[in-house]
Amino acid sequence: MQEQVVVKATPITGSRPKRAEFLPFCLPDITEAEIAEVVDALRSGWLTTGPKTQRFEERFRAYVGSQHAIPLSSCTAGLHLALVAANIGAGDEVIVPTFTFCATANVVVHTGAKPILADVRPGDLNLDPDDVRRKITPRTRAIIPVHLAGHPCDMEALLHIAEQYGLLVIEDAAHAVGADYRGRKVGSIGNITVFSFYATKNLTTGEGGMITTDDAVIAERVGLLSLHGMSHDAWKRYSAEGSWYYEVLDAGYKYNMTDIQAALGLHQLARLEGFLKVRRRLAGLYTAAFSQMPEIIVPEVAEDVRHAWHLYFIRLQPGTLRLNRNQFIEALRQANIGTSVHFIPLHRHPYYRERYGYSPIDFPIADAAYQSIISLPLYTRMTAEDVNDVIEAVENIIVQYRR
Ligand SMILES: *Cc1c(COP(=O)(O)O)cnc(C)c1O
Repeated sequence: MQEQVVVKATPITGSRPKRAEFLPFCLPDITEAEIAEVVDALRSGWLTTGPKTQRFEERFRAYVGSQHAIPLSSCTAGLHLALVAANIGAGDEVIVPTFTFCATANVVVHTGAKPILADVRPGDLNLDPDDVRRKITPRTRAIIPVHLAGHPCDMEALLHIAEQYGLLVIEDAAHAVGADYRGRKVGSIGNITVFSFYATKNLTTGEGGMITTDDAVIAERVGLLSLHGMSHDAWKRYSAEGSWYYEVLDAGYKYNMTDIQAALGLHQLARLEGFLKVRRRLAGLYTAAFSQMPEIIVPEVAEDVRHAWHLYFIRLQPGTLRLNRNQFIEALRQANIGTSVHFIPLHRHPYYRERYGYSPIDFPIADAAYQSIISLPLYTRMTAEDVNDVIEAVENIIVQYRR
């Protein structure tokens, strides 16, 4: 089932005028402002959760337009806490798309519930509401839509299904900070939204995450569980207004954000709209060029969304080229272009295959997408020339291997 990464029989030769230097797939965008703020955190004495984390939380909540925001150590921690806060566990089922990063489903396993994989739609490769409907059983408790690449899911359809069956919608918005759906910011739509500030994401704190919600009960419980289950504002206990006394109200986790992370986040958030503008412009250059190439399928963008362009992926039109996806990636590497694949669907990973018996024939859309998809470099430190180098490299490979 798994193809070889390099097929030796047909040596793949890169395009002729290749870049002098390797173009990495991704690079973070950190300025002196972020560095100075981290140094300020270090000098302040607040190394862990403190005033910078609180400021970042307030500004992020205001940006998204949600009632509550809870800063965390990662998006994975947030997805886990969202499920725990909703009392999801053994005997329950949670529907997740197969076309996602493993964290989306691993956290369901951590709670003791069963991850039920669903297929995606052929256009945007987001969770298919029709397949979600087919996968609902009396045990279903929640749906975790993933806004793939930063393109919001069909939230109207998903929220409608959730309402009909009394399910919770927990959005995995790891790619979608800054995205809009019908004029509303992702983070202010479903019951609970979880963001990632991992090093490669649109807004980074190195490692980090955030939950946003309008549900005061969930927010209270997530806040409590994120720091050992200690009574609220326990983090203040080492400041002048704090006290040594706290109570453990639940067996919580250690999922809090630190001020060193928040120092980065404060400046990254201030720069986010600028980041999104650059991403949109670079993605536009890609789409303008690749739309002219019948061998390439460009990402679809719905009319009613603002795409956050965390990823730019192309798909190879089946039957048009004499090389497969893996060979295409190898040819790009030889042309000094870094790429990646988002994602190897969960049903192909040994754990999900063996423990739950998932197989490619159950997810025809996601599996076909996986075999043709390539993520190209897209980040704010790229120049238009870098984008042109990628376009040229893709074009050269196509000219060389066209059927
Ligand atoms: C990055 C990512 C995560 C995990 O984020 P962390 O902050 O690294 O825990 C979850 N889901 C998706 C879709 C991701 O891309």
